[in-house]
Amino acid sequence: MSRSTPPRRDDPTEEMRRLAALAAYELLDTEPEQAYDDIVRLAVTLCSVPAATISLVDHDRQWFKAALGVRVAQTPRSQALCDVAIRTPRQLMLVEDVLADARFAHFGMTIDGRPVRFYAGMPLCNPEGHALGTLNVLDVEPRQLSAEQRQALELLARQTQHLFELRRYTREQGRLLAERDAAARRLEASRDDLERRHERLKHSAARDPLTGLLNRAGLGELRENPDALARLDAGPYSLMLIDVDHFKQVNDRHGHLLGDRALRAVADSVAASIREGDVAVRFGGEEVLVVLPQTRLAHAAEVAGRVRQQVAGVALPFPLTVSIGIAGGEPGGDPPEAVFERADQALYRAKATGRDRIVVDDTPQVG
Ligand code: GH3
Ligand code: MG
Ligand code: MG
Repeated sequence: MSRSTPPRRDDPTEEMRRLAALAAYELLDTEPEQAYDDIVRLAVTLCSVPAATISLVDHDRQWFKAALGVRVAQTPRSQALCDVAIRTPRQLMLVEDVLADARFAHFGMTIDGRPVRFYAGMPLCNPEGHALGTLNVLDVEPRQLSAEQRQALELLARQTQHLFELRRYTREQGRLLAERDAAARRLEASRDDLERRHERLKHSAARDPLTGLLNRAGLGELRENPDALARLDAGPYSLMLIDVDHFKQVNDRHGHLLGDRALRAVADSVAASIREGDVAVRFGGEEVLVVLPQTRLAHAAEVAGRVRQQVAGVALPFPLTVSIGIAGGEPGGDPPEAVFERADQALYRAKATGRDRIVVDDTPQVG
């Protein structure tokens, strides 16, 4: 910088870009770090001065990332020799006697109460050439630097710039990783959500809304489920058909709403009487099919007895009864459709012989 050039602010757009470049490092007001402290210590030692700082020139202050021999953390920008130094970004600014230089005499910076007389500052630039601050050495006596000392200051400034770049790179990587993690989490969440919606849809398509039992579509799905079939192949099983007695009359005499309540009560009675592996399906209007894997007829008849009892105990303004037909099958015996047919015939016999009863199919099994 020529001595005749008065200090002037850069053009505002350029200054805005410089401040944005400085902000990108997220260095201002951070905690001290050993690497930067080491650099100012080296600067002090190599230049044989009492003080050195790494100064960042902010909007209206200079803030010291590291300082030795200077006790304040920052000064107003108007007192910052560094603010002048950064206007010649690639060049060391050296002021042999601050007080003898009309440009700086009014700056008034002190070290331990004594005015700063000597200043040498090497601008710290980003790769685009914006000067963010300086590495500088200070003295309370006027003085000079040897060629080696100037070079040392330049080399240390370069090392400081490397530290800045390393910081920016590390933080960018951290941000990218965090973004990737967040995107992965979002993806996982939306996949979970999709799965939940799919499950809900499947559930509602397979369930009868009135009783909460599976509907015929649900039964079809069950038949496609190899696990359910495997359970029928695992040993003797039973099929049970439950039909509400004189249900048409219930509707006719008490209305559909009470009829619906009665149907729900029957479904609840069934659900309360079967085991976890058993499957209850609302098969027709007031008919429920129960598949009981690995269940012999005698045990199925006990379950049917529980259903009857439960239905009898339902609190409604009219008596409610069911007729139940049961048939048994076994692996290698009749196909399930034939077993169903026998259960239906048993139910028919229960109806024909007076209703409110359980009829167990006694057809001898083939095979
Ligand atoms: P049975 O003892 O011989 O079984 O006589 P039933 O009257 O129960 O048999 P039927 O098959 O003649 O009548 C069944 C009735 O069930 C007719 C129908 O209106 C009624 N129903 C079917 N689905 C529903 C339903 O979702 N809600 C109500 N409230 N009634 C239903
Ligand atoms: Mg019926
Ligand atoms: Mg009926």
